[in-house]
Amino acid sequence: MLSDVLFPPRCVGCDEVLALSHRKLGFCPYCHPRIHPVKEPLCKKCGKPLLSQEAEYCYDCRDKQHHYLQGRGVYLYDGPMKKAMYRLKYSNRRAYARVIARDAMRFHGAWLRGIRPEAIVPVPVHPNKMRLRGYNQAEVLAKALGQEMNLPVVNLVQRVADTLPQKEMSAEKRAKNLKNAFKVAKNGVKFKRILIIDDIYTTGATVDAITDVLNDWGIEEVYCLYGCIGHGY
Ligand SMILES: [Zn+2]
Ligand SMILES: [Zn+2]
Repeated sequence: MLSDVLFPPRCVGCDEVLALSHRKLGFCPYCHPRIHPVKEPLCKKCGKPLLSQEAEYCYDCRDKQHHYLQGRGVYLYDGPMKKAMYRLKYSNRRAYARVIARDAMRFHGAWLRGIRPEAIVPVPVHPNKMRLRGYNQAEVLAKALGQEMNLPVVNLVQRVADTLPQKEMSAEKRAKNLKNAFKVAKNGVKFKRILIIDDIYTTGATVDAITDVLNDWGIEEVYCLYGCIGHGY
């Protein structure tokens, strides 16, 4: 492809131009052994990798009731993936999304097809941030996965508040505040099952808030997929 000559594919891990032999993989020989695809055993709720099959849930999901149904992450958020996620978000490395989406299908294809989502919905950024950065990394990931899965990508949720709730607030107040930061776009089509996409999973508070908003709209089954996730032990 001409675009490969003008913009040769770069390693997702270190951003060096990839040798032809590694373009399909998306990672160079140095980074590939240093990235960790998320594999079983996993937390049955959030999808964080666990040490043993014995525990069903991670330490976090054991005492927190998440609102979404289930989540999965593609890679562990460590090693080269930390800087990779930063570049995806701030340095316009949108091409990484294709590699991540391909790996999402490789590692979680059965799960992704099994949940039968009707549409993919990116976690939105506030219009101010969109103006500043020019794109939403979650939407870029969503589009790449939409292509892999042949599913529509719908910007169904909008971010209406730019700032996130304060740490000093009570957990309850924070959750309510976060929910108010999102709203369903008015032209929202009726769906039953949605897959939310974000770059990194941390506490799950954002997807929980978005799930609440979607539930209010009548969308009952909300799943989520992340580029990266921490471990659950
Ligand atoms: Zn590399
Ligand atoms: Zn969990």
